[in-house]
Amino acid sequence: MNGNTEQSASLSLGDPVANLRGVGPVRKQALANAGIHTLGDLLAHLPKNHRILPAPAPLSSWRTGTLVTLVGEIKTVVHRSSQRRRGGHLRVGICVDEDPVELEFFNQGYLRSVFAPGQVMRVSGILKRDPKASITVSHFQLEDAPPDGQLVLTTYGAPQGLKSGQMAALIRECLEPAVASVIDPLPQEIRSRHGLLDLQSALVQIHQPLAVGQLEAAAKRLTYNAYLVGALSAQDEQAEIVGSVASDLCRSQPREERLRAVLPFKLTQGQEEALEEILQDMAQTRPMRRLLQGDVGCGKTAVAGLAALNAALCGKQVALLAPTEVLARQLHGVVSAWAKKIGCTATLLVGGMKAAEKRAALHGLGCGEIEIAIGTHALFQKPIHFLSLALVVVDEQHRFGVLQRLKLVRKGQCPHLLAMSATPIPRTLAMTLYSDLKLSSIKQAPSGRKPVATTHHVRDLEGPFDWRGLADKARSGEKCFIVFPGIESENAGFPTLFGLGRLLATRFFKGIAVAAVHGRMNDKDKQEKLEAFRNGDVLVLFATTVIEVGVDVPDARHMVVVGADRFGLAQLHQLRGREGRGHLPGECHLLTKSRKSADSARLGLLTQCNDGFAIAECDLELRGPGDMMGLKQHGPGPLASPLADEELLHGAFADARHLLQSSKNLENLKRILGKFAWRRRKRSRGFIDAG
Ligand code: ADP
Ligand code: MG
Repeated sequence: MNGNTEQSASLSLGDPVANLRGVGPVRKQALANAGIHTLGDLLAHLPKNHRILPAPAPLSSWRTGTLVTLVGEIKTVVHRSSQRRRGGHLRVGICVDEDPVELEFFNQGYLRSVFAPGQVMRVSGILKRDPKASITVSHFQLEDAPPDGQLVLTTYGAPQGLKSGQMAALIRECLEPAVASVIDPLPQEIRSRHGLLDLQSALVQIHQPLAVGQLEAAAKRLTYNAYLVGALSAQDEQAEIVGSVASDLCRSQPREERLRAVLPFKLTQGQEEALEEILQDMAQTRPMRRLLQGDVGCGKTAVAGLAALNAALCGKQVALLAPTEVLARQLHGVVSAWAKKIGCTATLLVGGMKAAEKRAALHGLGCGEIEIAIGTHALFQKPIHFLSLALVVVDEQHRFGVLQRLKLVRKGQCPHLLAMSATPIPRTLAMTLYSDLKLSSIKQAPSGRKPVATTHHVRDLEGPFDWRGLADKARSGEKCFIVFPGIESENAGFPTLFGLGRLLATRFFKGIAVAAVHGRMNDKDKQEKLEAFRNGDVLVLFATTVIEVGVDVPDARHMVVVGADRFGLAQLHQLRGREGRGHLPGECHLLTKSRKSADSARLGLLTQCNDGFAIAECDLELRGPGDMMGLKQHGPGPLASPLADEELLHGAFADARHLLQSSKNLENLKRILGKFAWRRRKRSRGFIDAG
C-alpha cells in the first residue's frame, strides 16, 4: 500500500469512516445511510462481483465471441466525436505478435490522451472477428511488462451517492492497516481441520485477490463464518425450546369442519395429511417445529391458512411471515377472506403502510382484537406486541435467516412454528440444519393441473423466437409473463427489461395492454401492476425475478424466460410454477443466445422433468447448499466444489455443538464472524468464468 504510514499505523476496525482521507461530511452521510459507520463496516462490505480475466494467449487460440486477453503494442489512436455518444468513439489499433487487432472504447474519449503509439498494453474484452479482429474493451493495463497470469477484478455495490469505484478506493485505502487490527476469534484447531484461512488473510484476499486460488480460499473461509454463525443461532433456537411449554390448541371435530368449509375447494389427500400432522402437533404443549415442503402450486397456503384459523378459533394469535410485500399482500387477500367467514380478523403489516393503519394494527394485536397478522419483516420490528401469539407461520422459509425467525418467535411465549418451502432440502442436509424439525410434504398438486410444457430455444441455431405468435395469443386474451435476468445495466452482456424488453414491447406488443414489474419499483406500484395482470387489465407482464416466489395468477398461460442461462434451475422451476395453475396447460419457453453445453444440459433437465425435488437436488449439486439453509448467503459460485461446500456446512454444525459446550466468549465470536460472512442477497452469478 502506498499509504501515508502515519495514518495507516493508527487505523483500527472501530474507527469512524470519517477518519479516511476520502470521506467528508457528504460521503459520511451516504455511508451511514447504508449502515457503514466504521472501518470494520467498510471491510464487511464485500465485493458484489469478482470478474476473472483470463491469462494472455496468442490471438489464434481464442474463440470468437468469448472473453479474451491479449498483449500487444499500440500502433494507432483514432478518436471520433459523436453527437449521440458522450465522449465519442475511440479506436486504438494494436499489433499482437504479427496480427492487427482493433480496440473499441465507447464513451471514453478522455482515454485518448492516455494512449500513445509504441506502448505495450494488456487488454481484455469480448473478441469479434468480422473478419478483422476487434475487441470491445472491458479492462486494460498499460505497462512495459504487463502481468501474464489471470487477473481478478472486484466490483462493489455502492450506497446511494457513491460510485462503485469510490467504494473500491475507500476499501483499498483502509484495508491493510485496518485488517491488522482484526483478531480472529475462530480457534486455530478448527481452522486447520477445515483448511481455512485466518480471518485477516481472508479479508485481504476477498477484497484484493491476486489469483483465483486466493479468492476461492477467502470465499471458503467467509462462507464458513456464515455457516457457523447460522449453526450457533439454530442451536440457540433449539435450546430455547427444550423444556418450554406452548399453548396446546386441542382438537375439536366441529371446529375443524367449520374450518374446511371456508375453502372454495376440497383439500387434496396430501394437503389433508399435512394438515392432520400439523393440527396434531399444535395440540401438544411441546412447541411444534415443522417444515411443510411441497412443490410450487401444490397448495401449501390452504394448509397453513387452516392451521392459522384453527389457532384463531381457539382464541390465540397467529403471525404469518412472507418474504416480500407483494406476497404478504397476496397472502393477506386470501387468508383475510377466509378469516372473515368464521368471524376472525386478519391485518396486514408491511413497511409501506400508512401510519394510521399501522397504529390500528399495533393496537389490535396488542389488545388481542386482531387474531392474525400477515406481513413482511415489519412483523418482527420492536413496537409490535402480541397478546397471545401461539403460532408463527413462515412462508418461503429459506428466504429468512434463523435469527429473523427467532425474533418473531420471541414475540410469543414459545409459539408453534410452521415453516414452508417449495425448495426441497435433501435429507442429509435437513438433518444437519434442523435436527429437531419434523417434515411434512405434499407430493401432488391439486388434480387437473397439467405440467408446464417447457422448451429450450437457442437463438443462434433456430433464429429469433416467434414473438409475433406470442403477441397473437396475448391479443386473443391469453396472459403471458416475459421474464428478464436484469433490469438494466450498461454493457450488461445479457438481455434486460429496459433494453430488450422495451424493444419487444414497441415492436411486437403494440396495442396490447402490457406492464412491467421489477425490483426498483416501490411495492405499491408492483402490487398495482400485478393486480392489473391478475384481473386481466394487463395481458403481458414484463418482469424480473420479483415474481419468482409465490405470486399466484392462476390463468397465466405462457411464460418466456429471456437469457435463461442466467438463472438457477430451482429458480426457473419456481418461475414456471407461476403459470398453468388454472385449467389450461401452461407453456414455458427458455431462451438462450447460444448453446453452451453446460447450459443445454441444465435447461434440458427442465424440459424433461417436472419434479421439483429432482431439480432442487441437481441445483444443489451445481450451486452448493448456501441458499438452502436460510442464511441468505451464497456459495462462491461455479469455482468451488459444492460437495466440499456441503461438507463444510456439516462441519460447521458439528463445530457449533462443540463450541457451545467448551467456549466462553461465543457472543464475541458470533459478532465478528457474523460481520465478516459471505452473504449475498441477490442470486448473482458472482463469477464470470474464465473464457
Ligand atoms: P404453493 O404451495 O405454491 O404456495 P398455493 O397455496 O399458492 O401453492 O396454491 C396454488 C393454487 O392452487 C392456488 O390458486 C390455490 O387456490 C389452488 N389450490 C390449492 N389447493 C387446492 C385444492 N385442493 N384444489 C384446487 N385448487 C387448489
Ligand atoms: Mg406459496
